[in-house]
Amino acid sequence: QKREWAKLVNEKTLSKDGHHVELAANIGTPNDLEGVINNGAEAIGLYRTEFLYMGRNELPSEDEQFEAYKTVVEKMEGKPVVIRTLDIGGDKELPYLELPKEMNPFLGYRAIRLCLEEQDIFRTQLRALLRASHYGNLKIMFPMIATLEELREAKAILNDEKEKLKANGVEVSETIEVGMMVEIPSTAVIADIFAKEVDFFSIGTNDLIQYTMAADRMNEQVSYLYQPYNPAVLRLVSSVIKAAHQEGKWAGMCGEMAGDEIAIPLLLGLGLDEFSMSATSILPARTLIAKLSKQELENIANEALMLSTATEVEELVKTKVLK
Ligand code: PEP
Ligand code: MG
Repeated sequence: QKREWAKLVNEKTLSKDGHHVELAANIGTPNDLEGVINNGAEAIGLYRTEFLYMGRNELPSEDEQFEAYKTVVEKMEGKPVVIRTLDIGGDKELPYLELPKEMNPFLGYRAIRLCLEEQDIFRTQLRALLRASHYGNLKIMFPMIATLEELREAKAILNDEKEKLKANGVEVSETIEVGMMVEIPSTAVIADIFAKEVDFFSIGTNDLIQYTMAADRMNEQVSYLYQPYNPAVLRLVSSVIKAAHQEGKWAGMCGEMAGDEIAIPLLLGLGLDEFSMSATSILPARTLIAKLSKQELENIANEALMLSTATEVEELVKTKVLK
């Protein structure tokens, strides 16, 4: 099997009927790049920048961040690199930021909510990203957007920092795509509205599933409710992809679901453009997709959207696709 996978390292990801999708990798630090390159990723679909901020006693400086982002885009040699702005809070804490103890950290002060409040932290990161954009194909993504106002404010701050850098003679790419994670149901439901104001979506199913099912992603006791194949989740995913395409934008997915054997055929059928996963899942996914017909899967995906339970969806894929 390993040998079958290895043949596809330098290939693009094509379905049996010739439809191209992008297989991207999720990374946490520049040290992950070797695995990304060895496994033939076509892009980085999620660079989780939290790790730059964790396991230390103070915030990382602008220059330190700039070096990390520049290293990643340079090593990817022009391939797309989606860098997510700080997503701290929830399950990830920073000892040197005195955040309030909360009853429901996953519903609390985290990610973009914190960044829009603590603007020094946010602006420092955005400057580092803007400076690094000159060295490769860097895209910026905001996490945990819940409302259009948040998106607009984040974009306005980004623009403000960009104009300031340019006024100081710093070179900044003029073609940076700016996107958002769709991981809160409120944004999935009105994705058609958000799609007009972003360049891309990346569906964060790790959170989207927990918020849709109201089941803590870390809690074993309710893990039976953590259902990627639940038709409710699939319908949200489907409408997000449609909303993006309606506006001529692309839709990716960077939650665990994107690398899942049962989910991949459905996502291909629903028209997902980019699948971002752990590097080691890329070659198995590329091998699987090469055996699938996008056109046939469109019908199966539509059938799945009309089923009643996650179990029925799983059975459908197992009997009709992976048989
Ligand atoms: C997600 O929520 O699906 C995601 C990719 O982000 P994280 O797992 O870092 O919350
Ligand atoms: Mg998330």
